[in-house]
Amino acid sequence: MATDDPFSEKLRVPEALTFDDVLLRPKQSRVEPDEADMRTRVSRNVTLTIPVVSAAMDTVTEADLAIEMARQGGLGVLHRNMGVEAMTDQIEAVKRADELIIRDVVTAAPDQTVRDVDAMMDRAGVSGAPVVADDDTVLGIISGTDIRPYLQVGEHDEVREAMTDEVITAAEDVTAREALELMYEHKIERVPVVDADDRLTGLVTMAGVLARREYDAAARDDDGALIAAAAVGPFETERARAADAAGADVLFIDCAHAHNLDVIDAARDIRTEVDADVVVGNVGTREAAEAIVEFADGIKVGIGPGSICTTRVVSGSGMPQITAVAEVADVARRHDVPVIADGGIRYSGDAIKAIAAGADAVMLGSYFAGTDEAPGRVITMNGKRYKQYRGMGSVGAMNDGGGDRYLKDDEDGEEFVPEGVEAAKPYTGSLASELHQLVGGMQSGMGYVGAETVPEFQEISEFVRVSAAGQTESHAHDVVITDEAPNYSPEN
Ligand code: 5GP
Repeated sequence: MATDDPFSEKLRVPEALTFDDVLLRPKQSRVEPDEADMRTRVSRNVTLTIPVVSAAMDTVTEADLAIEMARQGGLGVLHRNMGVEAMTDQIEAVKRADELIIRDVVTAAPDQTVRDVDAMMDRAGVSGAPVVADDDTVLGIISGTDIRPYLQVGEHDEVREAMTDEVITAAEDVTAREALELMYEHKIERVPVVDADDRLTGLVTMAGVLARREYDAAARDDDGALIAAAAVGPFETERARAADAAGADVLFIDCAHAHNLDVIDAARDIRTEVDADVVVGNVGTREAAEAIVEFADGIKVGIGPGSICTTRVVSGSGMPQITAVAEVADVARRHDVPVIADGGIRYSGDAIKAIAAGADAVMLGSYFAGTDEAPGRVITMNGKRYKQYRGMGSVGAMNDGGGDRYLKDDEDGEEFVPEGVEAAKPYTGSLASELHQLVGGMQSGMGYVGAETVPEFQEISEFVRVSAAGQTESHAHDVVITDEAPNYSPEN
């Protein structure tokens, strides 16, 4: 900035906007909200049915919530405040959740005792097991009902005496419908899958087929397994490799400031080591996007908009989210890289504004922290129910191991400088009903603009600037709210 008054010049500042500063300009439309198709890409190779992702936070996303997110068509990003093994277990739990053919089959040997197998099935939480020879040939199938005492099978009898040896099997290419027909026809609940030599390769269960049917809009990979994602630190190469090997479809490089050059080098290295897509973040400017767009499979945007985040007041640095998303999206669009808007979304209207600003998907923490599927228990304060919600840069989360996102360490015994707070969110019930409200509101936004798909909406939507008075007018005003709406709370 060549000027004689460099500091005064610095005060000629550009404006940056956030959610409440803008509204979508309504347009001519023939689109009914429930016709709006919400499909989107969250990274170069991964498509979701709805453009919604849950935050990698230890009070938001563990396997339960990730499974439900994927079943509903979105994506849950497992947090990294857990050991590598716990993370791989959770990734596997997501991938296995409603797979048609179970690969990790609990099997019995013909010469095991009935008591042994009963205990084994109990431990594994299954109610039946194929009986296989040493070379994996299927000899029979044994289930709880085969070994109950009233069938006069002794505890010490061998499995071969108690099992059903006329086994109905299916081939590798069995479809859900065919498996179900077999099960109905033969009144059985599980069908072993075998290769041409009758060797066991998997198992289809009635429960599995029914679960898949219920979630017809789920986000799945080519094999029909749910999409799984996990957060990894930029310097956590081992964790990244383990997550990739466990089957994660997307890794999210989890960093508060990804325009740090060491972070970029490390993220690029991780990218070359894994098969999974790698989303890099967080960034908030055009320049940061340019620095990572060449190698990232997705870019995550958000420097300080989060509800539990104090980065902007602690560090004096940040970018209002709508401007941040637009700057990054300008760059990402030219390279066909998806953008994820992370943080600060309180209402469905904020989420769809983020999409209009150029995001392909939105990431939310606080919106989901009060759901049944989020980790932690319901607590009661003053007669109201809540669940804990805390920033990953809060003292509590850092004490539990999550601090390095904020580039702090306590090895020298110094106190943390937190960039987040510990809080609570009202208990909100099931994730499915929260998502229903969120996505329904976003579809409504597409209806007002007249767009049928996410790319069309990004293309044709326009913003108007809102004054403080306009903002007051937007909210419920001049009334006393008597009944809570499922998608609006003035205290948000
Ligand atoms: P929310 O949806 O609650 O507004 O924001 C969630 C997002 O806030 C997370 O996805 C993450 O990017 C960010 N975040 C989580 N914990 C912290 C924290 O302690 N400090 C900061 N600066 N951001 C956080």
